[in-house]
Amino acid sequence: MGEFDLIRRFFTRPTPRAVLGVGDDCALLQSAPGMQMAISTDMLVAGRHFFADTDPQRLGHKCLAVNLSDLAACGARPLAFTLALALPQADEAWLAPFAKGLLQLADAHGCELIGGDTTRGPLTMCITVFGEVPARGAVPLLPTSALLRSGARVGDDIYVSGTLGDAALALRALQGTVALPTDLLNAARARLEQPTARVALGQALRGVATACADVSDGLLGDLGHILERSGLGAQIEVERTLPLLAARANFADGAAQFDAQLGRDTALQCVLAGGDDYELVFCAPPTEREAVAQAALQSATPVTRIGTMRAERGLLLLDSQGRAIAPESLELASFDHFAAAPGP
Ligand code: ADP
Ligand code: MG
Repeated sequence: MGEFDLIRRFFTRPTPRAVLGVGDDCALLQSAPGMQMAISTDMLVAGRHFFADTDPQRLGHKCLAVNLSDLAACGARPLAFTLALALPQADEAWLAPFAKGLLQLADAHGCELIGGDTTRGPLTMCITVFGEVPARGAVPLLPTSALLRSGARVGDDIYVSGTLGDAALALRALQGTVALPTDLLNAARARLEQPTARVALGQALRGVATACADVSDGLLGDLGHILERSGLGAQIEVERTLPLLAARANFADGAAQFDAQLGRDTALQCVLAGGDDYELVFCAPPTEREAVAQAALQSATPVTRIGTMRAERGLLLLDSQGRAIAPESLELASFDHFAAAPGP
């Protein structure tokens, strides 16, 4: 099977939304009046971002999902994507399920594959997604309605969508550093290998959230991006985040038993610093609590309020009594990344 056969067989499909799809030197997308394009690229490399023997259908899903997650974080509606693929060999038994996982998710979001590039090389997939947001919007200084990392204000509530930390827990289990019961491992592993991009929630939050980011590198690290771009600090009530670890919440004999067997620190590390969740972390003023609840309902995506934005730079972690937790006590590998910055 040659390069062009491969493209025709697995990656050429009708693209009614695009003016021109696969087959020419460029694809053509019509930009709609009053709309802006949101564009993002994410690359997944075998051995670095995934195990080379990962189920190809899940991999196809994941490489698009991580890109859709960036559109979600901006509140953009997905339109189309391109796929650059490096393959060690043209293996049909791998390509067919890979394309299936990829295109099923693409169809679910009405996101068309309009082009790409294919070459022999170490297994790598690089996707660029194109989405759209209304130009007209309330973002100060920029004429856009896109959700940005900047824009959070002092006193804003901080929320996170869905569940947190299960992808990181699955990774630890697959690496053999923690032991999980089979059913919980399978559920956590699905979170790692088939993440859900919160595309509907992102769009529902336009005009409600003041800032938003997706959680790809860990909650505290990605919240750190919002703090940095918004020039603020935050306090997080750690007790509110712990129940978000689904494997712990669903542990047969209860969360206390999870803590006893796997360690409460493991849970905290996964929830606060684990990567690959692809949830949204976002801010909104307390006056918008009802609107946030509506956005969650409308998008069928649970959200949890976990903290508050502060004027003082840096990140304060509070225990259930409201006492500051010493970050060193949590052994969060990435903590330096968001350590208190010197004040202005
Ligand atoms: P060029 O050499 O002009 O860059 P190619 O010959 O590499 O174009 O690709 C031919 C067509 O196939 C182009 O429309 C390109 O976008 C598309 N294409 C190549 N690889 C992929 C892929 N993995 N998925 C979808 N379309 C692809
Ligand atoms: Mg080419």
